[in-house]
Amino acid sequence: MDNEHSAFLNAYTVKSLRAQAAGNGLKNSYLLITPDASAAKSIFMLFAMMLHCKRGAGNVCFECAECKKILSGNHADTRVCGGKLSVADVGGIIDDLYIKPLDGDYKMYYIPGIDGALAPAQNKLLKSLEEPPDYAIFFLSAANEDAVLKTVASRCEKHYEPSFEHQSARAILEAEFQDDDFVANAVLCADGFIDNARSMITDAEFRRLFFECADMMNNLKNSGGVVGYIFKPLFEKERIKTTLNILETIISATVRGIETRDDGLIFVRDTPAGVLNKYIFLIVAARKQAAYNVNPAAIAENLLMNMLEVRYLCR
Ligand SMILES: [Zn+2]
Repeated sequence: MDNEHSAFLNAYTVKSLRAQAAGNGLKNSYLLITPDASAAKSIFMLFAMMLHCKRGAGNVCFECAECKKILSGNHADTRVCGGKLSVADVGGIIDDLYIKPLDGDYKMYYIPGIDGALAPAQNKLLKSLEEPPDYAIFFLSAANEDAVLKTVASRCEKHYEPSFEHQSARAILEAEFQDDDFVANAVLCADGFIDNARSMITDAEFRRLFFECADMMNNLKNSGGVVGYIFKPLFEKERIKTTLNILETIISATVRGIETRDDGLIFVRDTPAGVLNKYIFLIVAARKQAAYNVNPAAIAENLLMNMLEVRYLCR
């Protein structure tokens, strides 16, 4: 049975949690570091199912009564917290924590985005992490490890989830956005990070600029062509920062495509990786200028002329 979580069964973290669920050193607290919020949630859901599935610990069938309860959010001892964790939310968790599990051997709490919770809320949670009842399992996730209090992080077993294989990411997003032919591009550009890819797919402006940037990179051949681009909407004041991000995305993806010989990743044709890497430095410099409010047409002209120069020197 396929669902939004099944594609994550092969996730790196899931594999190591499976061994623990099957009886190999289960902990009371985990901290998952990943920029991908959907991935973190799915990994937690799979972990909860691995601990409760009727087919035995370590399995996930999606079909037994326990798996179904977890999937539908009706499992009494599996709690998914939402939004930014507040001191009051932690109070609610503590009140609930000492009520013994009703539906199995564990009480699980998923706390997404702990890096977004303010210090008082994290501190209040710390006491429960330090002295949890045996049956409690806290599963925290964060995009930014540095924003998690050291005292909190040190109580947890840390896992780092890298981005997903493109094929898995595509399967998930194709199910979500049927018949949308931009899914493949977005997955490649986001290098398998689902949330990033999803925001590219749903952002019409991004899509339009994406194709304009790719066209420009493929069609700009000499300095005479530069003037045709610098006054285009691409480089207008309110858009230039987005355009620079997209250019970097397209160029980085192309570099990865050249390295891995993945033709699908090549958005900038006929340009060697060494030249593309230099383009990235130029884009970083342009982004700095944009942050200092330098005239956008001047930034664009400077960037495009320098790109042509780099290509000329490396020919
Ligand atoms: Zn099951």
